[in-house]
Amino acid sequence: MPISEAAKKRAPALPPPRVTYHRLRKSIHFACFLGFLALPFFDLMRFDIPRQRFYFAGYELWINEFAIVFFALMFFMFLIIGSSIAYGRVYCGYMCPQMIFSEASITFENRLRRWMSKRFFDWPAARRNVAVRALFLAALAPVSVFLAFVFISYFVAPRDLLARLLALDLHTAGGIAGAAVTIVTFLDFTLVRQRFCTTVCPYGYLQGILGDNNTLLVHYRDEGHQCIECKKCVRVCHMGIDIRDSPFQIECVHCGECIDACVDVLGRMGKKGLIHYTWGEHGGEAGEREPWLRRLGLRDAKRMIVLLLLAAYGCGLFVALGMRRAVLVQISPERASLYRLEGSRVYNKFRFTIANRGHARSAVIFSLEQLPAATLAISQNPVAVEAGQTAQGEFEISRPLASGTQEVVHFQIAASPVGGGPADSFPMTFLSPEQRRPQ
Ligand code: SF4
Ligand code: SF4
Repeated sequence: MPISEAAKKRAPALPPPRVTYHRLRKSIHFACFLGFLALPFFDLMRFDIPRQRFYFAGYELWINEFAIVFFALMFFMFLIIGSSIAYGRVYCGYMCPQMIFSEASITFENRLRRWMSKRFFDWPAARRNVAVRALFLAALAPVSVFLAFVFISYFVAPRDLLARLLALDLHTAGGIAGAAVTIVTFLDFTLVRQRFCTTVCPYGYLQGILGDNNTLLVHYRDEGHQCIECKKCVRVCHMGIDIRDSPFQIECVHCGECIDACVDVLGRMGKKGLIHYTWGEHGGEAGEREPWLRRLGLRDAKRMIVLLLLAAYGCGLFVALGMRRAVLVQISPERASLYRLEGSRVYNKFRFTIANRGHARSAVIFSLEQLPAATLAISQNPVAVEAGQTAQGEFEISRPLASGTQEVVHFQIAASPVGGGPADSFPMTFLSPEQRRPQ
């Protein structure tokens, strides 16, 4: 067949890109899925509601350490805000679990459809569709149970949750929550999928407030009128939009699938794609040659300040975590009666609480400082506390009552961990009845 003049003039096809955004996204999706599984099972981040514990980066924080828990949650919030200012909705397209599982369910259903079409090509289309849907729902049911299990593991210890699941527990809060999340997950990935992003999720709306002229966008630029109206960029968009209409559409999750599509179509014609990641509507394309800080998205003073604040916040958080004591001792005087007299001695009563927030059994020994001739009466000294447990009790301190004894004596109670470690010292007062000096 003779080759037309137009075909002869056509520029040679460009080599396909080594890494497409689609492939990059799928790799990140897989890594995020592994992270989603690992966070609760390795106590990297988990809120154990029944035990009132917050697990973070291997630390077990108690609810009475609310300041650190609050600090950690605020750090995550600032991290999301900071990344949204610089990188827009890249989190939605690359890391959001809703997006990851919605896309996975659509891909699975499409593959199932293709397989059925090949395997049962002689069936009527309606019967094939019903079979595909039935198979998809049958497969989604156990997957929903598994995903709900992982999700509830963020709030209930996985081992405890597994026992409830195997016992088909529908009586406790954990069991009911698990069943409810399973149903919601099933309906979500059957009916809702990415509609969630444009209807329920507030993050897209928040992004409209956080973005500025330097925020990463997916932008269509066609000054040379190169677009051939193939609409492949529209067909591949799982959010159902045309990026050529505007880079600021609330539905756009900045996934970059339309970039790959345009590069593929125009690349075969020897042309560059018309859709790019750009820094703001009028900024340059991401990846262009420029100083590395700007390439990383740190393009103005605002972003540098946000980064410095985040770094300071993160350092503060890890210093606070590093400084926390595994064993927390609290001592308070029992002042229902100021003192007790027995024979020639006067007694003061004190209460103690020892919280062992570490992972190993611990013991604390009490001793007295700056209180001469005093005796400590306690049932056990040292007091042993199992890991994750709290011990409470009381003890008495007695002194001989002699003429000239002061009514109020300031002294210290020391609480030292057995086996070494810094001791706590608690300033206290010892009260005695008024004694008249001999004339
Ligand atoms: S894929 Fe590229 S060429 Fe095709 S319609 Fe979209 S922007 Fe135009
Ligand atoms: S317009 Fe492009 S970047 Fe935006 S959601 Fe659709 S495919 Fe993804």
